[in-house]
Amino acid sequence: MELLKDNVWIKRGNTNVGIFKTNKVTYVIDTGSSVKFAKELLSEIGDKQKVVLNTHSHADHIQGNVLFEKNGAKIYANELEVPFIRNPALESLCLYGANPPKVLHLSFYLAKPSDAMPFESEAISSECEIVSLPGHSPGMTGIKINRVIFCGDAYFGKNILEKYSYPYLVNVKKFLASLEILQDLDVDLYVPSHGNPTPDPHSDIEETKIAVQKFVNVVFKTLKEPLYVEILCEKVSKKMSITLNNGTFYLFRSFISSILSYLEESKEIVEIKPGMWTSSKI
Ligand SMILES: [Zn+2]
Repeated sequence: MELLKDNVWIKRGNTNVGIFKTNKVTYVIDTGSSVKFAKELLSEIGDKQKVVLNTHSHADHIQGNVLFEKNGAKIYANELEVPFIRNPALESLCLYGANPPKVLHLSFYLAKPSDAMPFESEAISSECEIVSLPGHSPGMTGIKINRVIFCGDAYFGKNILEKYSYPYLVNVKKFLASLEILQDLDVDLYVPSHGNPTPDPHSDIEETKIAVQKFVNVVFKTLKEPLYVEILCEKVSKKMSITLNNGTFYLFRSFISSILSYLEESKEIVEIKPGMWTSSKI
């Protein structure tokens, strides 16, 4: 664990976790991407009563919830994320659109259930400010403490964008609006879940915006010919040199589908047959 600022700590991992120690309670922002990580975290933060604040419900942020729950911790998240944390099978159900194939039952997609509740101001210190940053997931939330903001997956650094090839999101418009909110915050330090804490995230936020715009443009251009969604995914992944496997295909399809509804809203594309989209400006 490293101290970031008065009583605010980080434990770095595949998914960074925040820690805020008050006199009575230790707040933990996300619980990491593995039970092993969460065990280490538990042993490092000591015996005080713990409260978990999840930024969102993706498996790599909540894998340790079950361990914290066994340890008596209460778990809170945005009300739109709570059903997914309580029943993580919904995550795969949404990705696939039906009872999912076995690849989406792997732990990468599926955490163990825990009894999360919607954020309640009475139960959480007023020093923990809840900042709504939707787009990456429906109820993505940043947690601001002592002028440090734990951003969850509201933006990604250049290295992460290079590693994962695209900024996963479910709502383009909200994701872009959340980037603006992030930039306007009056804080001293930004802590993304994947990447390094920084006082100035400007270039990473810009890279994230550019990456989103690049995919929006490629999808639009590719739809000069009418295409079914899955053929579109294949063409865009080839153009952008993205290798998909049986599981990541469904994440990518979800990402591309969010771009389709964004372009539909701005009247740039139309669905000309069920499941087939094309530019409206031919
Ligand atoms: Zn995420």
